[in-house]
Amino acid sequence: MMIFKRVADMQSWLTKQGRPVGFAPTMGALHEGHLELVRMSKADGCLTVASIFVNPTQFNDPKDLEKYPRMPEKDAQLLDSAGCDVLFLPSVEEVYPPGVDLTVHLDFGSLDKVMEGEFRPGHFRGMATVVNRLLDIVKPQKLYMGQKDYQQLSIVRDMIRQLALPTELIMCPTVREADGLAMSSRNLRLSAEMRETAPVIYQTLLWAGGELKKGRSAPEISREAVDILTEAGLKPEYFEMADGTTLLPAEHYSDSTPIVACVAAFAGDVRLIDNVIVK
Ligand code: AMP
Repeated sequence: MMIFKRVADMQSWLTKQGRPVGFAPTMGALHEGHLELVRMSKADGCLTVASIFVNPTQFNDPKDLEKYPRMPEKDAQLLDSAGCDVLFLPSVEEVYPPGVDLTVHLDFGSLDKVMEGEFRPGHFRGMATVVNRLLDIVKPQKLYMGQKDYQQLSIVRDMIRQLALPTELIMCPTVREADGLAMSSRNLRLSAEMRETAPVIYQTLLWAGGELKKGRSAPEISREAVDILTEAGLKPEYFEMADGTTLLPAEHYSDSTPIVACVAAFAGDVRLIDNVIVK
C-alpha cells in the first residue's frame, strides 16, 4: 500500500495509474465498518484510496476533537491487510491551505437542519467542506460511505447533485458487533458498563421499526423509545422516525418510502448515533 501525506505526490501517482478510483474517507481508529468500505471498492474493481483525517471543522465540541482516538500505524496495517491501494494521511495545512477559504455554502434544505443538524451546529458545513475538498483532491469515480451516518450520506448525495460532481455515491450497510452495537471509533471510549448497555440502542431501533409497521404513530413510538433508552442508563438527544429522503419526521408507516429510525444518545460522555431503515 502506498502512503501519501502530500496532495501533489498522491495526485501525480494516481494520474499515472490510469484506473478508476474508489474512495473511502475516514477519521481513523479504523474498524470492520471502515474496512468494509475498502472491500466494497476493491470488489468493484477500483484502485482504492482511503483517507484518514480528523477534520477539525466538523467538531462542534473541542473536547470531542481532542479525545478523538488516533492510531495511524495500526490503521495503516488494517488498511493494507484489507487490500487498500493508497492511504492518504494529510496534515491540516494540506487539506486547508492557509489563507484559502474552501467552505461549502450550499443550501441543503431540511437535510442539515434536523437531528444531528439541530444538536451539532456547524457540523455538517464542516463535513461537506472536507468531503468536497477530499473529492477534489482524490477525484474518485466512486465514493463509499456508511449507512451508519445516514444523514451525512444524504447531505453528501445532495452536494454531489448540486455541484454536479462526477462521482457515484455508494452506501455500505452498517457493520455491527455481535451484540448489535454499531461499530464506531467512539466505542473505544466506552466504559465497561456503558459498553454493556449500548446495544440497547440497536434493540430499541428494531423495536421501534416493528411498532411502526404495526400501525402505531411515530411520535408516540419515539417518546417511548426515549424512555426505554433513558431507563437503560443512556441520555438520548433525539429519537426520530424520519422520511428517508427529506429526513423530516414521518408520522405513519404509510407516509413515505424509505423511513429511517434514527437515534443519538450519550453513553456516559460518549455520543453514539445509529439508525435502521424501517421501510
Ligand atoms: P468516520 O471515520 O467515523 O468518519 O467514518 C468514515 C466512514 O465510515 C463513513 O462513511 C461512515 O459512515 C463509515 N462507517 C463508520 N462506521 C461504520 C459502520 N459501523 N458500518 C459501516 N460504515 C461505517
